[in-house]
Amino acid sequence: IVRLVDIRKTYITGELQVPVLKGINATVCRGEFVGFIGTSGSGKSTLLNILGMLDVPTGGQYYLEDIEVSQFSDVEQATIRNLKIGFIFQSFNLFPHLTVEQNIEVPMLYARVPGRIRSKRALDLAKRVGLGHRLGHRPTQLSGGECQRIAIARALSNNPAFILADEPTGNLDEKTSNEIMKLFHELNREQGVTIVMVTHNPSLGPHYDKIIRLRDGRIDNTLFEWEIAAQKKESEAAR
Ligand code: ATP
Ligand code: MG
Repeated sequence: IVRLVDIRKTYITGELQVPVLKGINATVCRGEFVGFIGTSGSGKSTLLNILGMLDVPTGGQYYLEDIEVSQFSDVEQATIRNLKIGFIFQSFNLFPHLTVEQNIEVPMLYARVPGRIRSKRALDLAKRVGLGHRLGHRPTQLSGGECQRIAIARALSNNPAFILADEPTGNLDEKTSNEIMKLFHELNREQGVTIVMVTHNPSLGPHYDKIIRLRDGRIDNTLFEWEIAAQKKESEAAR
C-alpha cells in the first residue's frame, strides 16, 4: 500500500539547513501493523507527516497504492487525506469546543456524509471504543485515555485504509496504554486496518508485524541498546 524510495527531507530555516531524513526506503503492506521507533529527534514525526501528506519530502518518491503522491494536486491530496487516512496524535488534538459526537463526525463532514448517518455512525464508533454514553460531553470532561479513544473513533469514521499514529499512548499511564494498544490490535486483526505507529515502548514490540528503526535519518534495523536491555529484563522475568 505504501512504498518509499529514497525519501529525503531537509528543513531550511533562513541560512540553516537541517537534513532530517537522508534516504528512507521502506514498504508497508496492506493489513500490516508496523511499529516505528527511533530516538527523539530522529525524524519519526517528520516521516509520519510525509506519509500522511501533511508535509512534502525534499527528495525521493512516495507511492501510495502504486501512484506517486507528488502527481496528485493539492485538492486530490486533501481528499485522500480526509477519506483514506486516519490520524492519531500523542496529544489527541480533539476540538475542545465540540462535543464528543461532533469531534467524531468531523471527518465525515469532509466526506459529505448525510447528518443522520453521521450521528448513527458516531454512536457506533463511540460504542466501539467503549464511550457510547459520553457523546454529549466535551474533551475537557474526559480523561486522557478517554480522549485518545475518541481520537481513535474519529480517525476511524471514514473507514480509513490506513491509520498513522504518532505515539498515541505517549501521554497515558501503562494500564490505559495497554487498553489502547489492544484496541489498535483488534482494529488491525478484525478489520484489516493497516497501521503505522510511532512508539517509544519496545516491550510492546512483539505485537508488530514489522518494526522500522530510524537512526540519524536512515533506516537501520539493528536493535537499540535499550531494546536489548528491555528484552534481557523480560527474559529474566520469565525465568
Ligand atoms: P520525537 O521522538 O521527539 O517526537 P521525532 O523523531 O518525531 O522526535 P521530528 O519531530 O521528526 O523527530 O524532528 C526531527 C528533526 O527535525 C529534529 O531535529 C527537529 O528539530 C527538526 N525539525 C522538525 N520540524 C522542523 C521544522 N519545521 N523546521 C526545522 N527543523 C525541524
Ligand atoms: Mg515526534
